[in-house]
Amino acid sequence: MLKLYNTATRKTEDFKPLGDVVKVYTCGPTVYNFPHIGNYAAYTYWDLLVRVLKINGYKIKRVLNLTDVGHLVSDGDEGEDKLEKGAAREGKSPFEIADFYSKVYLDNYRKLELLPADVVAKATDYVREDMKAVDLMTKNGFTYEIHDGVYFDTSKFPAYADFAKLDLDGIKAGARVDFSNEKRNASDFAVWKFIQPGEKHAMRWDYLGRPGYPGWHLECSTIIHETLGEPIDIHTGGIDHLPVHHTNEIAQTYAAYGNKLAKYWLHCDFIMIDGQKISKSLGNTYTLEDLEEKGFTPMDYKMWLLSGHYQRTRNFTFESLEGAKNRRQNWRNRIALCYQQEVKSDENIFEKILDAVNNNLNSAEAFAIIDNSKISLEDWKKIDELFGLRLIADTPDIAEEQYALIKERVDARAEKDFAKSDKIRDELLSQGIALRDTASGAVWEYTN
Ligand code: AMP
Ligand code: ZN
Repeated sequence: MLKLYNTATRKTEDFKPLGDVVKVYTCGPTVYNFPHIGNYAAYTYWDLLVRVLKINGYKIKRVLNLTDVGHLVSDGDEGEDKLEKGAAREGKSPFEIADFYSKVYLDNYRKLELLPADVVAKATDYVREDMKAVDLMTKNGFTYEIHDGVYFDTSKFPAYADFAKLDLDGIKAGARVDFSNEKRNASDFAVWKFIQPGEKHAMRWDYLGRPGYPGWHLECSTIIHETLGEPIDIHTGGIDHLPVHHTNEIAQTYAAYGNKLAKYWLHCDFIMIDGQKISKSLGNTYTLEDLEEKGFTPMDYKMWLLSGHYQRTRNFTFESLEGAKNRRQNWRNRIALCYQQEVKSDENIFEKILDAVNNNLNSAEAFAIIDNSKISLEDWKKIDELFGLRLIADTPDIAEEQYALIKERVDARAEKDFAKSDKIRDELLSQGIALRDTASGAVWEYTN
């Protein structure tokens, strides 16, 4: 039985789907810049979620959005749109920026063996539907208009603070002094922004008689409504989304459609690097490509991510990445051994691994079981499908000629022709195959 920690109830619950097809939505990236390694954490953990659902026999429809408009630098309603900022930085249009970085993200998802979502929804493809949602929210009495946009009146949604256990009085007290006094409540947020005269904003749509663009939080409510229909089974995102973005999604969906948004909410924690926040000013915004330059594959990084739990803050160091790389190498060589001798699994080994991941995606515990158990080739194949680590694909059996060379070396050693035996060993080494002499003869292993 799959159990998931549900942020909505703050409890670990048995997973009970709402219908025949499990509807999963993942808040996707803002496509304005090269992602750093922390940005892939959530998508890797949610890939595990989807794989675990599949292995438990569920049919799934999964939607991922790409934010290509409206996400302001402040995450609130102030500052520049991140896409416009990217466009100014690179002297391109925001549409070109969105196209380019969407491709970077999707290419790297493939490199990380993340299963593609059934629908990848660009925010800019849903702007008409956003307008309809704002119309509905307005008709239902949840919005008001001020000079720079249409705002959601959070006092009209009594449950607003419940999801994230927000302290609304605290938010009010902490609001900036120069806070727009047009806003009725400090927690109110823009569902639609008007472009001010003289303001540069290339992405613009006419609505309410003026040019404007959707508020960032709106796209997820709209896309879920259009592609999955609420309520959905599972909504996923980074822990930073809990107090504002997800809280606002819930409010909008209730205000526009009168519905609950999701039954289960999963939030993953953040990746730190050498104990520090990932940030440009600290110079630690490593990309996957940076790791590759240092000799680590995307699979090594995925192995590192999955060796911890999604709800823990993880501290990335190159030493720990080296550890993950070695662990994967060790697993691959255990697969290689399966080609050379019959390896039987310990009893119910895959069930035990499945039990671990069914317990709120505890891949860390599953990995420890794998480390400490005998595993057959058949079970390695299942493990590979469960985690998507390219263990089998990166560990093919060696060629006939290579086996012939190993045999020749055995004969050379029997004849005490050590020069020939060493020559063969070096030849295999140059092909990436190392020989290890054991009590029961030589076994071959991959060197990388
Ligand atoms: P950003 O493009 O910086 O707004 O980040 C997009 C999303 O990536 C955030 O909303 C987070 O959920 C996630 N994210 C950013 N930094 C990290 C990190 N260090 N570890 C894990 N997730 C992160
Ligand atoms: Zn979202």
